Amino acid sequence: MSSFEADRMKDIEFSGIRKVFEEVEKIKAERMKDIPPSTIMGVFDQVSALKAEGRSIVSLFIGRPDFDTPDHIKDAAKEALDAGMTAYTSNYGIAELRQAIAEKLKNDNGLVFDPDTQIIVTSGANEAVFMAMMALLNAGDEVIVPDPMWSHYFQCARLAEARVVSVPMDEQNGYQLNPDDLEKAITDKTRMLVLNSPHNPTGVIYTHETVEAIAEVVERHGLLLISDEIYDRITYDDVELVSPGTIESIADRTITINGFSKTYSMTGWRLGYVAAHPDLTKAMIRVHQYTTVCATSFAQVGGVAALTGPQDSVGEMVAEFDRRRQVIVEAFQEMPGASVVEPKGAFYVFPNISALGRSAQQVADELLREAGVAVVPGHVFGVTGEGHIRISYAASLEDVKRGMEALIEYWVKNLK
Ligand code: PLP
Repeated sequence: MSSFEADRMKDIEFSGIRKVFEEVEKIKAERMKDIPPSTIMGVFDQVSALKAEGRSIVSLFIGRPDFDTPDHIKDAAKEALDAGMTAYTSNYGIAELRQAIAEKLKNDNGLVFDPDTQIIVTSGANEAVFMAMMALLNAGDEVIVPDPMWSHYFQCARLAEARVVSVPMDEQNGYQLNPDDLEKAITDKTRMLVLNSPHNPTGVIYTHETVEAIAEVVERHGLLLISDEIYDRITYDDVELVSPGTIESIADRTITINGFSKTYSMTGWRLGYVAAHPDLTKAMIRVHQYTTVCATSFAQVGGVAALTGPQDSVGEMVAEFDRRRQVIVEAFQEMPGASVVEPKGAFYVFPNISALGRSAQQVADELLREAGVAVVPGHVFGVTGEGHIRISYAASLEDVKRGMEALIEYWVKNLK
């Protein structure tokens, strides 16, 4: 709309909007007071504004694969829509999809779930995290979130009025969560631990040894465990990936979350799922029933096609991600003063940029304004993220190369 406005209007404030914002500050619920707007969506808005001004920006900030959803998935959803599949489905999701998910979890992850009682199809993994926290946390409960971590967990826990306790992960230790550090953070209020492997923002995968040691602590303290495995099919160098739910002693207390956004490039479809013991799904389904009701009906049919159809596109996408990963990692390994933990999964790199002697926010701002490269400042992922930036290589190889050239130029110019 603003492009239709006369120039004289550009500095004229819209007093009505000001007023409404003041009102919102006053009327918003107590539980919202510590919930900030999403920084990543803030970068998204900044990038859109710069692009609208005609600036060429390389977007290396968002976790959205740059591929289209494979045709056979789109065709299945289109056919379902044309066949009139436009009504509510079961709150748990359509039976064919739950069956396909149960098979996927068994074949890929070694997890056994009853599709009738233990799987809920959600509007993305985002909803699954929210649902689990709303259904299973009481106000004042403590949730342990390793740091750095995807900030969604921090905010969902706060929405559930729980207290987030961060446990720093050590970069020198390859960001493997240390079980002794975890143990020290546990109090009589601790109710839940959140794990994410492959990990956003570092791309790290927890070793078998780490997962076993964490499982032992989880069991001994009777915690619930959220295991977000959304990047489970995006791994490199044949590393082993362990689903915590396969460890028998904690299987009943593990809530496994996954989705279609990353593996099949379906971020806009809003399709994910949660699998857990029936006592936990029974609690979670009531949050789902009173919020989203069910995931979009025809998107669920697309989900069946994704899981049961040809998987070639996944391999091709991962091979392409791997090429981009190598370009970024090699560049950082050669940059004087920089260091990086080599990611083994997902599509992020989390280099240490503290040699620049300025905050992650300042580096991200300067990279955007001066070098035309959009990244996410590391502090968004927790206190230990300061001194880092997150680079997403869910962007074309050409963009990754262009972005890294600009970043290296910025680095050389600004290194103290
Ligand atoms: N879990 C993690 C660790 C993520 O990084 C993301 C997205 O960036 C999600 C979940 C969101 O997944 P979905 O699109 O299925 O809601």
